[in-house]
Amino acid sequence: MGKISINIATGSIQKEEMIVGIDLGTTNSLVAIIHPDTKKPTVLKEYDGHALVPSIIYFDKSNHAVIGDEAKKKLKEEPQHTIFSVKRLMGKSYQDIKDYTGFYTYNVIDDNSDSLVKVQVGEKFYSPIELSSYILNELKKRAEHILKTPVTKAVITVPAYFNDAQRQATRDAGKLAGLDVLRVVNEPTAASLAYGMGLDKNETKTIAVYDLGGGTFDMSILRINGGIFEVLSTNGDTNLGGDDFDRAIVNFWIQQNNLSKEQIEKDKKQYQAFRLLSEKAKVHLSNNKEFTGEIGQQQFKLTKNEFEKLIQPLMQQTMNCCQNALQDASLTKEDIDEVIMVGGSTRVPIVKETVSKFFGKTVHDSLNPDEVVALGAAIQADILAGNNNELLLLDITPLSLGIETMGGLMDMLIPRNSKIPSKASRQYTTQKDGQSGIRIAVYQGERDLVKDNRKLAEFNLTGIPGMPAGLPKIEVSFLVNADGILLVTAKELRSGLEQSIEVKPQYGLTDEEVEKMLLDSVTNAKEDIATRALVEAKTEAAQMIDVTQKFLEKNKTVLTQEEIDNTKMAIQQLEKEMTEGNKDQIHTAIEHLNEISKPYAERVMDEAIGSALKGKSI
Ligand code: ADP
Ligand code: MG
Repeated sequence: MGKISINIATGSIQKEEMIVGIDLGTTNSLVAIIHPDTKKPTVLKEYDGHALVPSIIYFDKSNHAVIGDEAKKKLKEEPQHTIFSVKRLMGKSYQDIKDYTGFYTYNVIDDNSDSLVKVQVGEKFYSPIELSSYILNELKKRAEHILKTPVTKAVITVPAYFNDAQRQATRDAGKLAGLDVLRVVNEPTAASLAYGMGLDKNETKTIAVYDLGGGTFDMSILRINGGIFEVLSTNGDTNLGGDDFDRAIVNFWIQQNNLSKEQIEKDKKQYQAFRLLSEKAKVHLSNNKEFTGEIGQQQFKLTKNEFEKLIQPLMQQTMNCCQNALQDASLTKEDIDEVIMVGGSTRVPIVKETVSKFFGKTVHDSLNPDEVVALGAAIQADILAGNNNELLLLDITPLSLGIETMGGLMDMLIPRNSKIPSKASRQYTTQKDGQSGIRIAVYQGERDLVKDNRKLAEFNLTGIPGMPAGLPKIEVSFLVNADGILLVTAKELRSGLEQSIEVKPQYGLTDEEVEKMLLDSVTNAKEDIATRALVEAKTEAAQMIDVTQKFLEKNKTVLTQEEIDNTKMAIQQLEKEMTEGNKDQIHTAIEHLNEISKPYAERVMDEAIGSALKGKSI
């Protein structure tokens, strides 16, 4: 039962603690909630109407972290102490980013290894996770200040192309910041939710999300079906965004006024002044025809027309990405039902126009493009809080799901972190002749032996018609639906016999337990591999013995006594090795048995073929 408390800011009764939605951006971050009174997604704003917090961290002389606008001011004076674009480093090793180090004005540590990067500030080292946690903690504090209530639970958004490591790093950053991250949601999914898409279970739509932020461009194509979002394709350019618009303007001014680019770039303060003025010009031109500003004594002008020409090649690049995204999803422009504009840079009118023209559609731009992701995160948070029971949850599987196979091994069907809904199937067969039933035991976890994982369910597929071992085709299918419910079906394909069971994989598992299971799988990885190898060797040996004995029985009349004796001895030897439990020796014994049986097996086979041919009448 949740505590009942009164929200001092809004005066309304709050049953449960509020779950906030966070857009942790490369350039800007912000928080949104579902307003307790209006029930509408709302961005949290400071008293001055400010919602965006620049994702910038400045470390002062005593290593105290300052975040946001104050930190942004330090960019030009103390570049070594001012960290920006941390998001680009999340889950990355030095190998991943070594070609881009020129981009960072601070010190990204080169230990030239595959381990994760660190940032050095003075004497101290920070991981991207820690740095992101500073931003998240600042957002948490601001939210608490505005809401006058503790904030400990959040939904955080990430780009659709983020891999497991990057998503996990984001979760960890939240944890470090004192936030329980209930879910990591794809940014384009959040943007769609903000526009009310996916809220109707009966709707099927294909959506293009065009997200042009400060330093990155992300193009995603999503399909919603029955309230479930599926990412069909992602494309984009991680080094293309509004910053490039600014740079294009600076270069234009330099050329137009016959200034020396080299000199300006050398003087960091001068360059930063140009960058700031160019951004101002760009923003101004989103609503005006021309701009005039000064640096020192000199005046700089730019018209909307000139600006549009400048960014034309950059726009073309983004349109190429759109084309590629469509191609990857095997779709054409006509297949797209909705186009959503996301990211501060889509405030530029020509950007909207170009995208609209490309898709031949009016684009969705009624919400603030730099707020829309956070708004969608708030909607997702509300769904998780159980305030909107109508809606399905969008999730990934926290742990791998699989079944037990020979020797107690875990055979994984759905790996952890799979998007749900998710399905997989695999074929199995029987071990014994005439076997009429097969036991399907379902497990969750990362270890190689099922005994170390968590058993979710077990059932028997019975009534398999009598067939020789290995002949029945038993297809086991896993389907995790959007509610996180796992449906396991076993079907014998030759007879059509079928049996299924429903399980709730996450039921009763706390976050801590999930974490422990993951940790265990890492610490025990070596041991697990050894055990798996041994179990597999034993299984192979048992099958080998079984087959050989059957062969002896069937063909004893055509084998010599010597052959039979040698084979029996080799089998005994193999059986002994199986109890000794050394995988290499088991393999040697298998080899030995194989060497003895192979010549007569081939001979018997040839004779069989020969007589079959002889019997054929022409
Ligand atoms: P990110 O997703 O990368 O954190 P945002 O979505 O907040 O970034 O977009 C930031 C970019 O949007 C910056 O390059 C900024 O200059 C640009 N931007 C913000 N407002 C405007 C505007 N009115 N016109 C043009 N560009 C804008
Ligand atoms: Mg963004």
